[in-house]
Amino acid sequence: MGELLYGSELSEKLKGEMRDKVIQYGKEGRRPPRLDTIVVGDDPASLSYIKGKKKACEFVGIRNVVHQLPATVSQRELEQLIQSCNKDEMCDGILLQMPLPDGLDANRAILAIDPDKDVDGLHPLNVGRLYAGEPCFAPCTPVGIMLILDAMGCAIEGMRAVVIGRSRLVGNPVARLLQDRNATVTIAHSRTRDLAALTKQCEIVVAACGQPEMLDHTYVKEGAYVVDVGINRKEDGHLCGDVKTEDVLPYVSYVTPVPKGVGPMTICSLLHNTLKAYEKRCFK
Ligand code: NDP
Repeated sequence: MGELLYGSELSEKLKGEMRDKVIQYGKEGRRPPRLDTIVVGDDPASLSYIKGKKKACEFVGIRNVVHQLPATVSQRELEQLIQSCNKDEMCDGILLQMPLPDGLDANRAILAIDPDKDVDGLHPLNVGRLYAGEPCFAPCTPVGIMLILDAMGCAIEGMRAVVIGRSRLVGNPVARLLQDRNATVTIAHSRTRDLAALTKQCEIVVAACGQPEMLDHTYVKEGAYVVDVGINRKEDGHLCGDVKTEDVLPYVSYVTPVPKGVGPMTICSLLHNTLKAYEKRCFK
């Protein structure tokens, strides 16, 4: 029988460890780390994410400055704000909340962020560094997935891994991070033929395809480590992942539930990246 790995519990543990670090830095007379969040418009989902991030920052002792801009802001004004955060010595990380309202160019705005403050790992320089195997900020969800695999006690090195999904934010970067840890990685997508035959050969399965409960026990190898990234809304209104959790549980070593799995780790990784940016700036 496998076990459920709750990202909600793991993130509490990791946040506690980060908090201890920040307290220690304070005792050494150092200033607290700071994350600047830029939010444009009043999309309710974005505002709720911002609230969650602010609460998590407060717990760890990271100052969170929220810059709220109206949906009517121009590209130039948005980029000017980003430039002022880049120049601000007290700001360690910049988070531009997505999606941006229509009329604003997200790619151009991301390009304006100082890559050393790009704690979301979206700047092309960080993307390039990730693929070149150089130190960088990787996107938060993939970082969270790697922390989960480590907490599962999964060796990663030498294992066969399949990542289902090839998006810029999740599938591709997590495949790269797995490769960096010496897994042998296959990326599957919507045109992959006989997916179950492929996943059944793999010790690690990262499901990030956004297909409600698509993977049942016929997709998993005995003893596999399964990370379910998907967030889907069922007809009854409940959330579910890409994996039929209860169905695979008897066959796997570990599987993450949805909700309380990968989701809470994404914010935790943002704090992790912010602390990394702070340490890089303060200890150079
Ligand atoms: P995208 O829609 O950008 O990508 C989905 C990927 O899945 C694509 O590469 C697509 O293939 C592939 N795919 C779709 N259907 C199938 C299928 N039947 N078989 C195999 N592959 C398939 O999604 P994201 O990567 O942004 O997100 C994936 C899921 O993760 C979503 O449910 C999202 O809500 C969730 N998510 C969760 C986060 C968290 O914090 N827990 C954070 C981010 C996302 P193709 O390229 O061929 O179209």
